[in-house]
Amino acid sequence: MAYTYDPQNIFAKILRGEIPNKTVLETDHTLAFHDIYPQAPIHVLVIPKGPYVTYDHFCAEASDAEIVDYARTVAKVCDMLGVVEDGWRLISNAGANAIQEVPHLHVHILGGRNLGRMLQPA
Ligand code: AMP
Repeated sequence: MAYTYDPQNIFAKILRGEIPNKTVLETDHTLAFHDIYPQAPIHVLVIPKGPYVTYDHFCAEASDAEIVDYARTVAKVCDMLGVVEDGWRLISNAGANAIQEVPHLHVHILGGRNLGRMLQPA
């Protein structure tokens, strides 16, 4: 699979400092920040700093250091947000069927309330 990364996407602009964000945690390879339109009391996005479009792209082509840093950052952010005890959800939309709006890998960390079932019936 060949992945094409658009460097003009909004998260690339955030990473270049061209638009602001509400940072939760930044590491060598990863940035976590609050979603601008929260869907739950806690809604944070975690993105790699590298140019990856989707989770499968990242897992296929990122370095071990990037992957470990990303996974550890998700865990740290969950701890910082205090969602571990009551539960939380991780979502990553990829491509058209998932209605991915921003073509730079991001996982959504959602919590702070009962989130209901994962999917609504079609
Ligand atoms: P997705 O549909 O999975 O691609 O989700 C994209 C998410 O990015 C949505 O939840 C938006 O609210 C969020 N978003 C878009 N622009 C920004 C921004 N400038 N800062 C923070 N979150 C954003």
